[in-house]
Amino acid sequence: MDFMIKASYFIAAGLFIYGLKKMSSPASARDGIVWAGVGMILATLATFFHESIHGLTNYLLIIIAIAIGGYLAWTSGKKVAMTDMPQMVALYNGMGGGAAAAIAAVELIQRSGMNFTEQALAVVGGLIGTIAFSGSLIAYAKLQGIMRKTIRFPMQQLLNASAFIITVILGLVIAFSGTDYGLGILFIFFLLALVFGVMMTVPIGGADMPVVISLFNALTGLAVGFEGYVLDNPAMMIAGTVVGSAGFLLTQLMAKAMNRPISNVLFSNFGDATGKAQDVSGSMKEIEASDVSVMMAFAQKVVIVPGYGMAVAQAQHKIWELVKQLQERNVTVKFAIHPVAGRMPGHMNVLLAEAGVPYDIIYDLDEINEEFATTDVTLVIGANDVVNPAARTDPNSPIFGMPILNADKSKNIIVIKRGKGKGFSGIENHLFFADNTRMLYGDAQAVASELVSTVKEV
Ligand code: NDP
Repeated sequence: MDFMIKASYFIAAGLFIYGLKKMSSPASARDGIVWAGVGMILATLATFFHESIHGLTNYLLIIIAIAIGGYLAWTSGKKVAMTDMPQMVALYNGMGGGAAAAIAAVELIQRSGMNFTEQALAVVGGLIGTIAFSGSLIAYAKLQGIMRKTIRFPMQQLLNASAFIITVILGLVIAFSGTDYGLGILFIFFLLALVFGVMMTVPIGGADMPVVISLFNALTGLAVGFEGYVLDNPAMMIAGTVVGSAGFLLTQLMAKAMNRPISNVLFSNFGDATGKAQDVSGSMKEIEASDVSVMMAFAQKVVIVPGYGMAVAQAQHKIWELVKQLQERNVTVKFAIHPVAGRMPGHMNVLLAEAGVPYDIIYDLDEINEEFATTDVTLVIGANDVVNPAARTDPNSPIFGMPILNADKSKNIIVIKRGKGKGFSGIENHLFFADNTRMLYGDAQAVASELVSTVKEV
């Protein structure tokens, strides 16, 4: 039996890694999720038998908890809108961190005969799991619009650092005192960790939120891995380590895409601009859909930059219809994807894949940025921050230094958006006022439909 359980864990670990590998391409990502899910079911079943050997008794409670959790996850997962996915990730991630912290708390309260390494890892896992839990809940509240304010005050960093250091000292005391620590110190340790998670997240301004969610994701993974060691559960150790390392890699990639060093992510007020942003000069100039259709139909190369607005409007299907029409007219059409376009990593890729857009016309920022200079028409659909030239030119802008898609370098820029709404970072976009930019106002899906019918008439 023991061999079967170990073999199941081994296979489950293989499935996690295989699933993750498949998730690296939008073409196979859906399969990847299924494979990793099969691994998780296998690991859960194996754990039942594993624990039964080690004297597990409260099956009924576990089954009820799995049923409630499974039902809630299934129903909310089914109906969540694609645009609300980041909040959902933040929430689920928080639950993972909380679960790891709860395991640590139970083991530490029971003083269940852990050796020093296990006890130390229970403390470390408890600390980071708790921080990931409360921090993720704040991230959820912010993205869901429940918490709109960014709370900042003088000496905040010092206070945050002090709270963290005191929590770590308490953790060291617990880890080094065998079974001689009191419940009071445990309680204060977890409480301070909870407070720290909140304190480090409340000052975060909008544009850096994705990096933080990804970081909490990585922390949750690590916490689960550590608690897996404490519980002697290899599947937890492997799954946790995989999530932890993938999360840290993603954090690094996103931080790079948004130009925020990771060291800044932990203890600083994110998205701070030091001075006054540059004033915008010029005016926004409107254009009709029929004129845009003529421009695109006679262009040699059109680059499409999708953003959050395309996701809101669910315009991807109509856009793909438009692209096919242009291709029939021998226009070269390419999609330019910014790594943080939309509201979650890979957001645009997922939508375009859903609409059936072939991957070979979808380009990442690095691959396409040089091409804007030779592009006749750049069609910006519901994107804003990711094409804001202030990131290159205005040191006082909160997004200064963030790599952007160089849409402004193309010969003509058409921007589809509903009105004068700002992007996620809440700042003005100089591109919309440029001489070679024209605004095509309206909901992205309605405008795309109009373009589809007017291109036919050209
Ligand atoms: P932005 O949020 O900067 O801009 C979206 C624009 O879309 C708005 O200016 C809005 O203008 C327009 N819009 C909204 N609804 C519609 C609609 N129905 N039809 C047409 N236009 C619409 O989006 P970007 O994709 O350019 O940038 C993403 C931002 O989100 C970045 O700042 C990034 O840091 C942040 N972020 C990214 C995450 C990620 O992981 N990808 C996660 C969380 C945040 P108007 O109101 O006038 O229509």
